[in-house]
Amino acid sequence: MMGHRVRFAPSPTGALHIGSVRTLLYNYFLARQSQGTLILRIEDTDQERLVAGAIDSIYDGLHWFGVGWDEGPREGGPHAPYVQSERLPLYQKGAQELVDNGAAYFCFCSKERLEQMRAAQRARGEITRYDRHCRNIPPAEAAERTKAEPDHVIRLKVPEDGTIAIDDLVYGHIEWPLSTIEDQILLKSDGFPTYQLAVVIDDHLMGIDPVIRGEDWLPSTPKHLLVYRAFGWDVPPHAHVPNVLGPDGKKLSKRHGATEVDEFRREGYLPEAMVNFLALIGWSPGTEEEVFSIDDLIQRFRIDQVQKAGGKWDRDRLNYFNGLWIRRLSDDELCARLEPFLPPAWDRTLVRAVVPLIKERMTTLVEASELIAFLFTDTVEQDPALLVPKKREALDVITALSRVTVLLRFVEPFAAAPIEQAISAVATELGWTLRDLTIAIRAAVTGRKVGPPLYGSIELLGKDRTLARLDAAQERLEP
Ligand code: GLU
Repeated sequence: MMGHRVRFAPSPTGALHIGSVRTLLYNYFLARQSQGTLILRIEDTDQERLVAGAIDSIYDGLHWFGVGWDEGPREGGPHAPYVQSERLPLYQKGAQELVDNGAAYFCFCSKERLEQMRAAQRARGEITRYDRHCRNIPPAEAAERTKAEPDHVIRLKVPEDGTIAIDDLVYGHIEWPLSTIEDQILLKSDGFPTYQLAVVIDDHLMGIDPVIRGEDWLPSTPKHLLVYRAFGWDVPPHAHVPNVLGPDGKKLSKRHGATEVDEFRREGYLPEAMVNFLALIGWSPGTEEEVFSIDDLIQRFRIDQVQKAGGKWDRDRLNYFNGLWIRRLSDDELCARLEPFLPPAWDRTLVRAVVPLIKERMTTLVEASELIAFLFTDTVEQDPALLVPKKREALDVITALSRVTVLLRFVEPFAAAPIEQAISAVATELGWTLRDLTIAIRAAVTGRKVGPPLYGSIELLGKDRTLARLDAAQERLEP
Protein backbone atom coordinates (compact mmCIF):
# COMPACT_ATOMS: atom_id res chain seq x y z
CA MET A 1 0.00 0.00 0.00
CA MET A 2 3.05 2.25 0.13
CA GLY A 3 3.58 5.24 -2.07
CA HIS A 4 0.80 5.33 -4.66
CA ARG A 5 1.42 7.77 -7.47
CA VAL A 6 -1.94 9.15 -8.55
CA ARG A 7 -3.06 12.07 -10.63
CA PHE A 8 -5.83 14.56 -11.00
CA ALA A 9 -6.04 15.46 -14.66
CA PRO A 10 -8.61 18.16 -15.33
CA SER A 11 -9.15 19.69 -18.74
CA PRO A 12 -9.13 23.49 -18.62
CA THR A 13 -12.44 23.72 -20.43
CA GLY A 14 -14.29 25.67 -17.75
CA ALA A 15 -14.53 26.37 -14.06
CA LEU A 16 -13.70 23.53 -11.67
CA HIS A 17 -16.69 21.17 -11.54
CA ILE A 18 -17.85 19.62 -8.31
CA GLY A 19 -17.96 16.13 -9.87
CA SER A 20 -14.26 16.41 -10.77
CA VAL A 21 -13.51 17.46 -7.23
CA ARG A 22 -14.96 14.20 -5.94
CA THR A 23 -12.57 12.29 -8.25
CA LEU A 24 -9.73 14.52 -7.09
CA LEU A 25 -10.55 13.78 -3.45
CA TYR A 26 -10.37 10.02 -3.92
CA ASN A 27 -6.95 10.44 -5.56
CA TYR A 28 -5.86 12.74 -2.77
CA PHE A 29 -6.97 10.39 0.01
CA LEU A 30 -5.10 7.51 -1.56
CA ALA A 31 -1.94 9.55 -2.12
CA ARG A 32 -1.84 10.85 1.43
CA GLN A 33 -2.76 7.61 3.19
CA SER A 34 -0.01 5.77 1.33
CA GLN A 35 2.52 8.57 1.71
CA GLY A 36 2.46 8.67 -2.04
CA THR A 37 2.40 11.41 -4.64
CA LEU A 38 -0.46 13.39 -6.12
CA ILE A 39 0.20 14.88 -9.53
CA LEU A 40 -1.80 17.69 -11.07
CA ARG A 41 -1.78 17.37 -14.83
CA ILE A 42 -3.54 19.75 -17.15
CA GLU A 43 -5.09 17.97 -20.12
CA ASP A 44 -5.48 20.56 -22.84
CA THR A 45 -5.12 18.50 -26.00
CA ASP A 46 -8.50 19.70 -27.15
CA GLN A 47 -7.37 23.22 -27.92
CA GLU A 48 -10.74 24.27 -29.28
CA ARG A 49 -12.39 23.82 -25.91
CA LEU A 50 -9.90 25.81 -23.84
CA VAL A 51 -11.39 28.47 -21.60
CA ALA A 52 -9.28 31.39 -20.41
CA GLY A 53 -8.75 31.42 -16.67
CA ALA A 54 -9.67 27.76 -16.22
CA ILE A 55 -6.26 26.82 -14.81
CA ASP A 56 -6.50 29.61 -12.25
CA SER A 57 -9.94 28.37 -11.31
CA ILE A 58 -8.57 24.85 -10.82
CA TYR A 59 -5.75 26.14 -8.62
CA ASP A 60 -8.07 28.35 -6.57
CA GLY A 61 -10.56 25.56 -6.09
CA LEU A 62 -7.99 23.02 -4.97
CA HIS A 63 -6.44 25.47 -2.52
CA TRP A 64 -9.86 26.28 -1.12
CA PHE A 65 -10.52 22.60 -0.46
CA GLY A 66 -7.23 22.39 1.39
CA VAL A 67 -5.94 19.75 -0.98
CA GLY A 68 -2.22 19.79 -1.56
CA TRP A 69 -0.37 18.07 -4.37
CA ASP A 70 3.23 17.29 -5.07
CA GLU A 71 3.91 17.77 -8.76
CA GLY A 72 2.16 20.06 -11.18
CA PRO A 73 2.43 22.84 -13.75
CA ARG A 74 3.42 25.55 -11.29
CA GLU A 75 5.17 23.26 -8.82
CA GLY A 76 7.32 21.39 -11.30
CA GLY A 77 8.60 17.89 -10.62
CA PRO A 78 10.58 15.09 -12.20
CA HIS A 79 8.11 14.67 -15.08
CA ALA A 80 7.71 18.32 -16.04
CA PRO A 81 6.08 19.78 -18.00
CA TYR A 82 2.67 18.88 -16.54
CA VAL A 83 0.56 20.55 -19.22
CA GLN A 84 -0.13 18.30 -22.18
CA SER A 85 0.21 21.01 -24.81
CA GLU A 86 3.80 21.46 -23.61
CA ARG A 87 4.55 17.78 -24.06
CA LEU A 88 3.93 17.48 -27.80
CA PRO A 89 7.40 16.10 -28.68
CA LEU A 90 6.80 13.16 -26.33
CA TYR A 91 3.54 12.27 -28.06
CA GLN A 92 5.01 12.76 -31.52
CA LYS A 93 7.92 10.51 -30.63
CA GLY A 94 5.54 7.92 -29.18
CA ALA A 95 3.31 7.89 -32.23
CA GLN A 96 6.33 7.51 -34.53
CA GLU A 97 7.53 4.63 -32.38
CA LEU A 98 4.22 2.86 -32.95
CA VAL A 99 4.49 3.44 -36.69
CA ASP A 100 7.98 2.02 -36.60
CA ASN A 101 6.94 -1.12 -34.74
CA GLY A 102 3.97 -1.67 -37.04
CA ALA A 103 1.30 -0.94 -34.44
CA ALA A 104 0.21 2.30 -36.12
CA TYR A 105 0.12 3.72 -39.61
CA PHE A 106 -0.04 6.96 -41.55
CA CYS A 107 -3.43 7.86 -42.94
CA PHE A 108 -3.76 10.31 -45.82
CA CYS A 109 -7.51 10.30 -46.23
CA SER A 110 -8.91 13.74 -46.87
CA LYS A 111 -11.79 15.23 -44.92
CA GLU A 112 -13.94 14.93 -48.06
CA ARG A 113 -13.16 11.25 -48.46
CA LEU A 114 -13.98 10.57 -44.81
CA GLU A 115 -17.25 12.44 -45.12
CA GLN A 116 -18.27 10.47 -48.20
CA MET A 117 -17.29 7.25 -46.46
CA ARG A 118 -19.43 8.07 -43.46
CA ALA A 119 -22.38 9.11 -45.61
CA ALA A 120 -22.21 5.81 -47.47
CA GLN A 121 -21.99 3.86 -44.20
CA ARG A 122 -24.99 5.72 -42.85
CA ALA A 123 -26.93 5.03 -46.04
CA ARG A 124 -26.25 1.31 -45.58
CA GLY A 125 -27.38 1.54 -41.96
CA GLU A 126 -23.89 0.76 -40.66
CA ILE A 127 -22.03 2.26 -37.72
CA THR A 128 -19.81 5.00 -39.08
CA ARG A 129 -16.14 4.34 -38.63
CA TYR A 130 -12.86 4.53 -40.47
CA ASP A 131 -12.73 1.90 -43.24
CA ARG A 132 -8.98 1.30 -42.85
CA HIS A 133 -8.32 2.59 -46.34
CA CYS A 134 -4.65 3.49 -45.60
CA ARG A 135 -3.92 0.60 -43.28
CA ASN A 136 -2.14 -1.51 -45.87
CA ILE A 137 -0.03 1.09 -47.63
CA PRO A 138 3.51 -0.34 -47.56
CA PRO A 139 5.40 1.48 -44.77
CA ALA A 140 8.19 2.79 -47.01
CA GLU A 141 5.67 4.24 -49.46
CA ALA A 142 3.68 5.80 -46.61
CA ALA A 143 6.81 7.35 -45.11
CA GLU A 144 7.63 8.83 -48.49
CA ARG A 145 4.12 10.27 -48.89
CA THR A 146 4.25 12.07 -45.51
CA LYS A 147 6.72 14.54 -47.05
CA ALA A 148 4.38 15.65 -49.78
CA GLU A 149 1.14 15.31 -47.79
CA PRO A 150 1.57 17.22 -44.53
CA ASP A 151 -2.11 16.74 -43.67
CA HIS A 152 -1.64 13.09 -42.73
CA VAL A 153 -2.52 11.65 -39.33
CA ILE A 154 -1.33 8.58 -37.45
CA ARG A 155 -3.86 5.87 -36.66
CA LEU A 156 -3.67 2.85 -34.40
CA LYS A 157 -3.80 -0.52 -36.14
CA VAL A 158 -6.51 -2.17 -34.07
CA PRO A 159 -6.44 -5.99 -34.38
CA GLU A 160 -9.43 -7.24 -36.35
CA ASP A 161 -10.62 -9.79 -33.86
CA GLY A 162 -10.20 -10.87 -30.29
CA THR A 163 -11.10 -8.94 -27.18
CA ILE A 164 -9.52 -6.56 -24.75
CA ALA A 165 -10.32 -6.57 -21.05
CA ILE A 166 -9.67 -4.83 -17.78
CA ASP A 167 -10.16 -5.76 -14.14
CA ASP A 168 -11.38 -2.45 -12.89
CA LEU A 169 -10.95 -1.84 -9.16
CA VAL A 170 -14.54 -0.66 -8.93
CA TYR A 171 -16.41 -2.22 -11.86
CA GLY A 172 -14.61 -5.57 -11.92
CA HIS A 173 -13.90 -7.53 -15.10
CA ILE A 174 -15.01 -5.84 -18.30
CA GLU A 175 -14.32 -7.13 -21.78
CA TRP A 176 -14.78 -5.46 -25.16
CA PRO A 177 -14.75 -7.18 -28.58
CA LEU A 178 -12.16 -5.56 -30.81
CA SER A 179 -14.46 -5.74 -33.80
CA THR A 180 -16.31 -2.73 -32.38
CA ILE A 181 -13.25 -0.50 -32.13
CA GLU A 182 -12.06 1.63 -35.03
CA ASP A 183 -8.53 2.51 -36.01
CA GLN A 184 -8.50 5.62 -33.88
CA ILE A 185 -6.35 8.63 -34.63
CA LEU A 186 -3.39 8.96 -32.28
CA LEU A 187 -1.69 12.00 -33.74
CA LYS A 188 -3.51 14.71 -35.63
CA SER A 189 -2.18 16.55 -38.67
CA ASP A 190 -1.38 19.61 -36.53
CA GLY A 191 1.02 17.53 -34.44
CA PHE A 192 -1.34 17.36 -31.45
CA PRO A 193 -2.11 13.98 -29.94
CA THR A 194 -5.63 12.76 -29.41
CA TYR A 195 -6.57 12.21 -25.82
CA GLN A 196 -6.13 8.43 -26.04
CA LEU A 197 -2.48 8.74 -26.95
CA ALA A 198 -1.65 11.54 -24.51
CA VAL A 199 -3.31 9.99 -21.48
CA VAL A 200 -1.60 6.64 -21.95
CA ILE A 201 1.86 8.10 -22.52
CA ASP A 202 1.51 10.42 -19.54
CA ASP A 203 0.10 7.85 -17.14
CA HIS A 204 2.87 5.46 -18.18
CA LEU A 205 5.76 7.93 -17.99
CA MET A 206 4.52 9.45 -14.74
CA GLY A 207 4.20 6.01 -13.16
CA ILE A 208 0.54 6.42 -12.25
CA ASP A 209 -0.83 3.53 -10.17
CA PRO A 210 -3.75 3.36 -9.92
CA VAL A 211 -5.50 5.53 -12.47
CA ILE A 212 -8.58 6.86 -10.67
CA ARG A 213 -11.00 8.68 -12.93
CA GLY A 214 -14.66 9.25 -13.63
CA GLU A 215 -16.94 6.52 -14.89
CA ASP A 216 -17.58 8.51 -18.05
CA TRP A 217 -14.13 7.41 -19.21
CA LEU A 218 -15.04 3.74 -19.09
CA PRO A 219 -16.24 3.59 -22.73
CA SER A 220 -12.87 5.02 -23.84
CA THR A 221 -10.91 2.55 -21.77
CA PRO A 222 -10.59 -0.16 -24.50
CA LYS A 223 -8.97 2.45 -26.74
CA HIS A 224 -6.51 3.28 -24.00
CA LEU A 225 -5.81 -0.40 -23.33
CA LEU A 226 -5.01 -0.91 -27.01
CA VAL A 227 -2.47 1.91 -26.88
CA TYR A 228 -0.78 0.31 -23.86
CA ARG A 229 -0.71 -2.96 -25.75
CA ALA A 230 0.74 -1.31 -28.86
CA PHE A 231 3.62 0.08 -26.81
CA GLY A 232 4.08 -3.22 -24.98
CA TRP A 233 3.51 -1.46 -21.64
CA ASP A 234 1.84 -2.90 -18.55
CA VAL A 235 -1.58 -1.44 -17.89
CA PRO A 236 -1.69 0.13 -14.44
CA PRO A 237 -4.68 -0.71 -12.23
CA HIS A 238 -7.69 1.46 -13.07
CA ALA A 239 -10.52 2.56 -10.80
CA HIS A 240 -13.47 4.21 -12.47
CA VAL A 241 -15.55 6.01 -9.92
CA PRO A 242 -19.28 6.46 -10.43
CA ASN A 243 -20.63 9.75 -11.66
CA VAL A 244 -22.14 12.26 -9.30
CA LEU A 245 -25.78 12.28 -10.33
CA GLY A 246 -28.42 14.96 -10.12
CA PRO A 247 -31.64 14.29 -8.20
CA ASP A 248 -33.17 12.96 -11.45
CA GLY A 249 -30.49 10.27 -11.79
CA LYS A 250 -28.74 11.98 -14.72
CA LYS A 251 -25.12 13.12 -14.50
CA LEU A 252 -24.91 16.30 -12.43
CA SER A 253 -24.90 19.30 -14.72
CA LYS A 254 -25.86 22.95 -14.94
CA ARG A 255 -29.51 22.10 -15.35
CA HIS A 256 -29.50 20.80 -11.77
CA GLY A 257 -28.22 24.14 -10.42
CA ALA A 258 -24.79 25.10 -9.16
CA THR A 259 -21.97 22.78 -10.22
CA GLU A 260 -18.90 25.00 -10.03
CA VAL A 261 -16.75 25.09 -6.94
CA ASP A 262 -16.80 28.85 -6.92
CA GLU A 263 -20.58 29.00 -6.86
CA PHE A 264 -20.67 26.98 -3.63
CA ARG A 265 -17.96 29.12 -2.15
CA ARG A 266 -19.95 32.27 -2.90
CA GLU A 267 -23.10 30.69 -1.48
CA GLY A 268 -21.31 30.26 1.84
CA TYR A 269 -20.49 26.56 1.94
CA LEU A 270 -17.48 25.43 3.94
CA PRO A 271 -14.83 23.33 2.25
CA GLU A 272 -14.97 20.93 5.23
CA ALA A 273 -18.66 20.31 4.59
CA MET A 274 -18.20 19.88 0.87
CA VAL A 275 -15.36 17.40 1.32
CA ASN A 276 -17.43 15.40 3.81
CA PHE A 277 -20.50 15.47 1.58
CA LEU A 278 -18.69 14.74 -1.69
CA ALA A 279 -16.61 11.89 -0.29
CA LEU A 280 -19.80 10.09 0.70
CA ILE A 281 -21.27 10.31 -2.79
CA GLY A 282 -20.10 6.96 -4.08
CA TRP A 283 -18.06 5.84 -1.09
CA SER A 284 -19.18 4.42 2.20
CA PRO A 285 -17.07 3.23 5.12
CA GLY A 286 -19.52 0.35 5.59
CA THR A 287 -20.78 1.78 8.89
CA GLU A 288 -23.39 4.32 9.88
CA GLU A 289 -20.78 7.02 10.48
CA GLU A 290 -21.14 10.08 8.35
CA VAL A 291 -19.09 12.92 9.78
CA PHE A 292 -15.56 12.87 8.43
CA SER A 293 -12.87 15.51 8.33
CA ILE A 294 -10.41 15.45 5.47
CA ASP A 295 -7.89 13.80 7.82
CA ASP A 296 -10.41 11.13 8.82
CA LEU A 297 -11.03 10.46 5.14
CA ILE A 298 -7.33 10.09 4.46
CA GLN A 299 -7.29 7.39 7.15
CA ARG A 300 -10.53 5.67 6.26
CA PHE A 301 -10.97 5.81 2.50
CA ARG A 302 -10.62 2.49 0.66
CA ILE A 303 -10.89 2.29 -3.08
CA ASP A 304 -12.61 -1.10 -2.82
CA GLN A 305 -15.41 0.53 -0.85
CA VAL A 306 -16.32 2.77 -3.77
CA GLN A 307 -19.74 1.77 -5.06
CA LYS A 308 -20.60 1.08 -8.66
CA ALA A 309 -23.91 2.87 -8.62
CA GLY A 310 -23.76 6.61 -9.17
CA GLY A 311 -24.27 8.65 -6.03
CA LYS A 312 -26.95 11.29 -5.88
CA TRP A 313 -26.45 14.94 -5.25
CA ASP A 314 -28.70 16.07 -2.43
CA ARG A 315 -28.73 19.75 -1.48
CA ASP A 316 -30.51 19.11 1.83
CA ARG A 317 -27.76 16.75 2.85
CA LEU A 318 -25.10 19.27 1.84
CA ASN A 319 -26.91 21.90 3.93
CA TYR A 320 -27.03 19.49 6.85
CA PHE A 321 -23.26 18.96 6.66
CA ASN A 322 -22.65 22.67 6.23
CA GLY A 323 -24.60 23.57 9.38
CA LEU A 324 -22.81 20.81 11.23
CA TRP A 325 -19.36 22.00 10.15
CA ILE A 326 -20.23 25.64 10.91
CA ARG A 327 -21.02 24.58 14.47
CA ARG A 328 -17.72 22.75 14.69
CA LEU A 329 -15.76 25.95 14.00
CA SER A 330 -14.53 28.01 16.92
CA ASP A 331 -16.21 31.41 17.21
CA ASP A 332 -13.01 33.14 16.12
CA GLU A 333 -12.64 30.85 13.14
CA LEU A 334 -16.27 31.38 12.15
CA CYS A 335 -15.67 35.15 12.25
CA ALA A 336 -12.71 34.72 9.96
CA ARG A 337 -14.78 32.65 7.52
CA LEU A 338 -17.56 35.25 7.54
CA GLU A 339 -15.17 38.02 6.60
CA PRO A 340 -15.76 37.93 2.81
CA PHE A 341 -19.53 37.95 3.36
CA LEU A 342 -19.72 41.07 5.54
CA PRO A 343 -19.79 44.75 4.58
CA PRO A 344 -16.39 46.30 5.39
CA ALA A 345 -17.99 49.05 7.49
CA TRP A 346 -19.45 46.73 10.12
CA ASP A 347 -17.72 46.87 13.48
CA ARG A 348 -15.82 43.59 13.81
CA THR A 349 -15.94 43.61 17.61
CA LEU A 350 -19.71 43.59 17.42
CA VAL A 351 -19.61 40.86 14.77
CA ARG A 352 -17.44 38.76 17.08
CA ALA A 353 -19.90 39.33 19.93
CA VAL A 354 -22.93 38.24 17.93
CA VAL A 355 -21.36 35.21 16.24
CA PRO A 356 -22.03 32.83 19.17
CA LEU A 357 -25.70 33.82 18.95
CA ILE A 358 -26.11 32.94 15.28
CA LYS A 359 -23.86 29.91 15.03
CA GLU A 360 -26.63 27.47 15.92
CA ARG A 361 -28.98 28.96 13.37
CA MET A 362 -26.84 29.14 10.28
CA THR A 363 -26.85 26.80 7.34
CA THR A 364 -24.56 28.81 5.10
CA LEU A 365 -22.16 31.70 5.73
CA VAL A 366 -24.08 33.94 3.41
CA GLU A 367 -27.04 33.99 5.82
CA ALA A 368 -25.08 35.71 8.58
CA SER A 369 -25.22 39.24 7.27
CA GLU A 370 -28.99 39.12 6.97
CA LEU A 371 -29.38 37.69 10.46
CA ILE A 372 -27.26 40.38 12.13
CA ALA A 373 -27.79 43.42 9.89
CA PHE A 374 -30.10 45.00 12.50
CA LEU A 375 -27.06 45.55 14.72
CA PHE A 376 -25.29 47.69 12.17
CA THR A 377 -27.96 50.20 11.20
CA ASP A 378 -29.54 53.15 12.98
CA THR A 379 -33.08 52.20 12.10
CA VAL A 380 -34.83 49.14 10.81
CA GLU A 381 -37.79 48.70 8.52
CA GLN A 382 -40.77 47.95 10.80
CA ASP A 383 -43.58 46.02 9.21
CA PRO A 384 -46.94 46.32 11.02
CA ALA A 385 -47.82 42.83 9.82
CA LEU A 386 -44.88 41.49 11.81
CA LEU A 387 -45.30 43.82 14.77
CA VAL A 388 -48.82 42.63 15.52
CA PRO A 389 -48.97 38.93 16.41
CA LYS A 390 -51.94 36.93 15.17
CA LYS A 391 -55.19 37.58 17.06
CA ARG A 392 -53.79 40.72 18.73
CA GLU A 393 -54.80 44.31 18.16
CA ALA A 394 -52.41 47.10 17.18
CA LEU A 395 -53.49 49.13 20.18
CA ASP A 396 -52.66 46.30 22.56
CA VAL A 397 -49.24 46.01 20.96
CA ILE A 398 -48.66 49.73 21.52
CA THR A 399 -49.52 49.27 25.19
CA ALA A 400 -47.28 46.22 25.50
CA LEU A 401 -44.31 47.85 23.80
CA SER A 402 -44.66 50.99 25.88
CA ARG A 403 -44.58 48.87 29.06
CA VAL A 404 -41.49 47.08 27.78
CA THR A 405 -39.90 50.47 27.07
CA VAL A 406 -40.57 51.65 30.59
CA LEU A 407 -39.13 48.56 32.23
CA LEU A 408 -36.09 48.25 29.98
CA ARG A 409 -35.13 51.84 30.67
CA PHE A 410 -34.29 50.82 34.22
CA VAL A 411 -32.49 47.56 33.45
CA GLU A 412 -28.93 47.84 34.67
CA PRO A 413 -26.62 46.29 33.65
CA PHE A 414 -28.22 45.99 30.25
CA ALA A 415 -27.60 42.26 29.87
CA ALA A 416 -29.53 39.30 28.47
CA ALA A 417 -30.70 37.83 31.79
CA PRO A 418 -32.21 40.99 33.37
CA ILE A 419 -33.63 41.97 29.95
CA GLU A 420 -35.42 38.62 29.85
CA GLN A 421 -36.75 39.15 33.36
CA ALA A 422 -38.14 42.55 32.48
CA ILE A 423 -39.86 41.28 29.36
CA SER A 424 -41.35 38.27 31.19
CA ALA A 425 -42.66 40.62 33.85
CA VAL A 426 -44.49 42.65 31.20
CA ALA A 427 -46.00 39.48 29.71
CA THR A 428 -47.28 38.38 33.12
CA GLU A 429 -48.58 41.84 33.98
CA LEU A 430 -50.54 42.14 30.71
CA GLY A 431 -51.62 38.52 30.50
CA TRP A 432 -49.78 38.03 27.20
CA THR A 433 -47.95 34.89 26.22
CA LEU A 434 -44.21 35.43 26.22
CA ARG A 435 -44.20 34.17 22.65
CA ASP A 436 -46.53 36.89 21.38
CA LEU A 437 -44.65 39.56 23.25
CA THR A 438 -41.28 38.49 21.87
CA ILE A 439 -42.70 38.37 18.34
CA ALA A 440 -43.67 42.02 18.63
CA ILE A 441 -40.39 43.04 20.26
CA ARG A 442 -38.30 41.16 17.72
CA ALA A 443 -40.16 42.84 14.86
CA ALA A 444 -39.57 46.21 16.54
CA VAL A 445 -35.86 45.83 17.25
CA THR A 446 -34.69 43.68 14.34
CA GLY A 447 -37.38 44.29 11.72
CA ARG A 448 -37.55 40.54 11.14
CA LYS A 449 -39.54 37.50 12.10
CA VAL A 450 -36.57 35.29 12.85
CA GLY A 451 -33.07 35.98 14.02
CA PRO A 452 -30.60 35.33 16.76
CA PRO A 453 -31.84 34.79 20.33
CA LEU A 454 -33.75 37.92 21.29
CA TYR A 455 -32.39 38.85 24.72
CA GLY A 456 -28.78 38.54 23.66
CA SER A 457 -29.56 40.56 20.54
CA ILE A 458 -31.11 43.34 22.60
CA GLU A 459 -28.08 43.37 24.88
CA LEU A 460 -25.79 43.79 21.89
CA LEU A 461 -27.98 46.42 20.30
CA GLY A 462 -27.65 48.45 23.50
CA LYS A 463 -30.20 50.34 25.54
CA ASP A 464 -30.43 53.53 23.51
CA ARG A 465 -31.02 51.93 20.16
CA THR A 466 -33.43 49.36 21.63
CA LEU A 467 -35.56 52.02 23.28
CA ALA A 468 -35.54 54.17 20.16
CA ARG A 469 -36.75 51.26 18.05
CA LEU A 470 -39.48 50.35 20.54
CA ASP A 471 -40.67 53.98 20.45
CA ALA A 472 -40.59 54.04 16.67
CA ALA A 473 -42.63 50.84 16.50
CA GLN A 474 -45.34 52.38 18.73
CA GLU A 475 -45.52 55.39 16.48
CA ARG A 476 -45.67 53.17 13.45
CA LEU A 477 -48.78 51.45 14.91
CA GLU A 478 -50.46 54.69 15.94
CA PRO A 479 -53.89 54.86 14.21
N1 GLU B 1 -9.01 15.32 -18.65
C1 GLU B 1 -10.10 14.47 -18.31
C2 GLU B 1 -11.25 15.31 -17.79
O1 GLU B 1 -11.13 16.44 -17.58
C3 GLU B 1 -9.72 13.46 -17.26
C4 GLU B 1 -9.55 12.13 -17.83
C5 GLU B 1 -8.86 11.16 -16.91
O2 GLU B 1 -8.87 11.37 -15.70
O3 GLU B 1 -8.30 10.19 -17.44
O4 GLU B 1 -12.33 14.84 -17.60
